[in-house]
Amino acid sequence: MNNYLPLGKFSFGLGDRFGHQGRAQLRACILAAELGADFVPVWNKSNREHLFIGTEPSSLRAEADAAVKALGWKQAYHVDADHIRLETVDRFIAPSDFFTIDVADSIGKPASAADAQAFAERHPELIGTISIPNISHPFAITRAEVERVANLFLLAPQDAGKIYQHIAKAKGAERFITEISMDETNSPQTPPELLIILAAIADQKIPIQTIAPKFTGRFNKGVDYAGNVKQFEKEFNEDLAIIAFAIQKYGLPPSLKLSVHSGSDKFSIYEPMRRALKKFDAGVHLKTAGTTWLEELIGLAEAGGDGLEIAKEIYAYAMDHVDEFCAPYASVIDIDKTKLPGAAVVSGWSSNQFVSALRHDPTNPAFNLNFRQLLHVSFKVAAKMGRRYLDALDKHETVVAKNVTENLFERHMKPLLLGE
Ligand SMILES: [Zn+2]
Repeated sequence: MNNYLPLGKFSFGLGDRFGHQGRAQLRACILAAELGADFVPVWNKSNREHLFIGTEPSSLRAEADAAVKALGWKQAYHVDADHIRLETVDRFIAPSDFFTIDVADSIGKPASAADAQAFAERHPELIGTISIPNISHPFAITRAEVERVANLFLLAPQDAGKIYQHIAKAKGAERFITEISMDETNSPQTPPELLIILAAIADQKIPIQTIAPKFTGRFNKGVDYAGNVKQFEKEFNEDLAIIAFAIQKYGLPPSLKLSVHSGSDKFSIYEPMRRALKKFDAGVHLKTAGTTWLEELIGLAEAGGDGLEIAKEIYAYAMDHVDEFCAPYASVIDIDKTKLPGAAVVSGWSSNQFVSALRHDPTNPAFNLNFRQLLHVSFKVAAKMGRRYLDALDKHETVVAKNVTENLFERHMKPLLLGE
């Protein structure tokens, strides 16, 4: 296996669309560390987000460096080129040291028949009855099954290999962390499929440290997990067992772990995840992004006055463009339009009414997850406001930052590692 930059056991993906909350986010890591939960902060921004907002990848590096300097953070931190591909990676290479190679598009596209057969030849250990420690029932995998899965999944590791080599050549293999993401596909990968995929990744000599499979259930943006929590827990446990097994079997980096592209706010699965991580003594990478943009809005609304006005204006504009804003996110939002309050109603709301509808507190009867999801996908309105939005963030920095920090620390980091 090639050299690589090692990633710490627990790491936390922080997305910050407008580049103003780096310090508030890092403060959450400091609070968690004080309680014994050490998260490596990883600032992530996808190519798509950079295009929407009109930012360069170097701006994320500048933000991370500035936050680390301002708060005197002495531990590791990273900058993640999130969901990149060969066509988009180049401008990320210098400023990033974590690359999330997105191979979702290659999944399901048939590999060459010769490659699938050669893969099955090379991996006799995948055929037959395979007992994995900590999985109660052994898997029975036939050669035909290995070829079928290879046919569906071989192209993805092959593509990842090309992208990995491209980055390694330009940057030096020892200077970055590699993640492979397959989450933006329609069907979840089963644990035996994950094993076969990891074998294929090892064949490509990619020192992968995080892998983001598609899990069962819906990971809608900024709201709780929607699906069968028991089934998720079973799969998550089995995936951890598969990863531990694959590290041994294929010489993958010992730091290899699951990356959960959570869409933020997956409160109901943090507890099962915590149990499983403890059981396997495993690490995890939890990626969040849009939750911080929503906390900015909450902070502005809480500030009242011009802050509340901006929040209302963004909602009114979003209501005028519901279909347009929701279309690109169809697979990661579920909005019941009949439950969206009208813009005229919202324009009469107090700070408290706006905040209660938006803040992710499921125990608050005024919380409205339709309202929240629509605002989640409406960050482009704030991008269009430009200076006016950014100036409001600066003006109301204290209240905005407090919301950003509290949200990450209280609602994400604590339940994931420490329990409520
Ligand atoms: Zn993702």
